[in-house]
Parts: sequence; structure tokens; C-alpha cells
Amino acid sequence: MPNARDIASICAAAGADMPSDTRPLSAPIYQSSVFEIDSLETVDDLYEGRAEGFIYSRDSNPNVSILEKVVAQLENADDSVAFASGMAAIGITLLSMVESGNRIVAGSELYGGTNLMLRQHLSKLGVETQFVDTTDLDAVEQTLDSQPRLILVESITNPLLRLTDIESISQMAHQRGVQVVVDNTLASPLLLRPLELGADVTLHSATKNLGGHSDVTGGVAAARADITMAMRQSNRVWGSVLDPFAAWLIVRGIKTLPLRVEKACENAFAVAQFLSDHPKISAVHYPGLPDHPQHKLAVDTLGGRFGWMVTFELAGGGRSASSFVKGLDMIKLAASLGEAQTTISHPAKTSHRSLTGDEQAVLGIRNGLIRLSCGIESASDILADLASALAKS
Ligand SMILES: *Cc1c(COP(=O)(O)O)cnc(C)c1O
Repeated sequence: MPNARDIASICAAAGADMPSDTRPLSAPIYQSSVFEIDSLETVDDLYEGRAEGFIYSRDSNPNVSILEKVVAQLENADDSVAFASGMAAIGITLLSMVESGNRIVAGSELYGGTNLMLRQHLSKLGVETQFVDTTDLDAVEQTLDSQPRLILVESITNPLLRLTDIESISQMAHQRGVQVVVDNTLASPLLLRPLELGADVTLHSATKNLGGHSDVTGGVAAARADITMAMRQSNRVWGSVLDPFAAWLIVRGIKTLPLRVEKACENAFAVAQFLSDHPKISAVHYPGLPDHPQHKLAVDTLGGRFGWMVTFELAGGGRSASSFVKGLDMIKLAASLGEAQTTISHPAKTSHRSLTGDEQAVLGIRNGLIRLSCGIESASDILADLASALAKS
């Protein structure tokens, strides 16, 4: 013990690092908002890039940096930036790329929150969005002719699981100087890496498959270094940074991502086949089925897997959906996806609730539509639960 200190000083200094000649195999959680710097000379070295280190956690934090490095590797990018949520990843990415007067082209089947952001929030900043069916390449090309700043698409859309031809869209966009931003949440970097197909930015809600355990909210975006530098600056200024513990949980999730994706895709394949033969099901949307409108694109681009999501329609409509949901036992109703557990959601009542009935109808979101996100349970238990709930529906 150095000099005895007053109890108030002991309390204030509590929680400093433990000196040790060994290192933990799993990075500790650096739950520190600020870092001690040894001298004013080091302050200069840190700011001028001659020393490496952390200063203040809104600028950078070890756990957040560990996550950013692994996501950059997974997406084959120069760098990536972590955010407090998937919505923050989308919002800050867009804010860092557009200015007032710019236009955005976006897929007409985007995630409900993204749609709301574009229509009601970015529009207030003088950034207008034109929506287009991204499966119709001629329609996409026409919208690109008017030279928007960027096009925002989802690699696999939600809930109808349509695919976007990122390679063709990137070619058309780049010929016209338009940048391409891809929300890759429903494919994960295991199935698809948009930057390798020509996109400029790929981003994820890490709340879903990257985290994978229904216990953390976060987002990431990966790109070339000049783009991530602008995003990082915006993220610091708007303050939508990820918490160290959240980053740590997402990194822990990523350790098992390949195993989870493999198993969940296998389960989804079995579920899609089971449902397509079932008399109470009127439609199954799954890129692995030969009658899916983009089955060939799925075969060519998803590396032999077709995702962990299956969306289907109950022939009996909304009333059947209600008794089907009540009849499930193992499979839970929950408004998320990409977890270890199999979950279902009802798009009309959750993710697409902010749309009017007419808007839902245009997208094909009816009351009998159920979206299932396969987990890593045994396929036979998932099929048995679905079969027994369908019998009661
Ligand atoms: C969930 C989701 C988001 C939003 O992510 P949060 O982490 O909930 O903010 C964005 N895009 C897609 C495709 C999603 O599934």
C-alpha cells in the first residue's frame, strides 16, 4: 500500500486495471468511458498518429475496435464502424453520404424502420427518396438515370425474401456515379459479401445474426477506408456509438456464426420443403425452392445455402394465423430474427405495422402471412411443432 489515503480518494480511484504477466484469452470488457494518458507528449503522439491508444470511448474503445476489425474481415472491407443499433448504422451511414438537395433511390420492400426514416425523417433534411422494385432491373436503371446520390437496397428482403442482384445494380450505378449501400442483415457475410459484388457499403443489424443470442442491440457498416472515415466522424458527432459490453457480446456471437448459419439454413430448407407440401399453406417464399422468382440468382450467389428465413401464407388468412400462433409450443412469437431459437413474426402486425393497409397489400403483406426465422434446434422438433400448430389452425 502506498500512502494511506482518505476514504473518499480510495473510492474515487477504485476499478483500475489489474497488473499481470499473463493475458486473458478472451478480451476483457473495457467498460471505461475514458483512458488515462501518461503525459502531454503522449497526447500529441496519440492525436498525430505516432502512438496507438484510446482516449475517449465515444471516439474509440478496445471492444468496439475488436468488433470493427472482425466485421471488416468478414465483409472483405478495409474497415468497419460499429453503431448502437442497426437503425443507427443505416441512419449515420446515409447522413455521412448525403447532403441537403441530394436524392436517394431505395428498394420498395425495405425494413419498416428504414422506410420510415427515409420518408419522414431524411425528407425533413431536404433528402428525398424514390422507391423502386429492386427485382426489376429496368425500373432500377431508369431511376439511376436521374443521378441520385446513392441507391439503398437489401440483399434479401423482408418478409418476402426477394433477392437483389447486387452485381448488376452496382455496375449500372457506378456507370452513372451513383453509390450502392446494401443492408446485408438477412444474408450475413457467410452467404453474401456485397463489396465483392461491387457495392460501396454493406451494413447489418448486429442485433440479428451477428449477435445471435437475443441479448444485444447493435449495428455495423463496412466499406472502403475513405467511406468508413466519414461514417466514423458522423458517428462521433451524433454520438450513436456502441457500448463496450454490447460490442463484447456481438464478438462472442460471431465466434459461432458459421456454425449457427449452417445449421439454421439446413433447418430452413427442411421447413420450406415441409410447408410446400402442406394443404393448409397457400404460398411458401424461400429462395431455395425452384418456384422462387429468383431461385437462379440465389443458386448463383448464396454459396449453396438459401438463408435461415422462410415466409409462408396460411390459406385460412388472419384467423388461421391467430390459432396457428397459439398452437405453437417450442417456437416463440418474437419481433426479431437470426437468433439461436426459432421464432416467428407476423409482419402485418409488427415490422410493417407503420404501413397503411393499402401499402401492405401492394407489398403482398396479408394477415395470413407468417415469417419464420430458423434457429439451431433439431429440425425434427421444429417440424413437429409446426405440424401440430397447423393441425390446430
Ligand atoms: C432489424 C433490422 C434493422 C434494424 O436493426 P436494429 O438493430 O433493430 O436497429 C434494419 N434492417 C434489417 C433488414 C433488419 O432486419
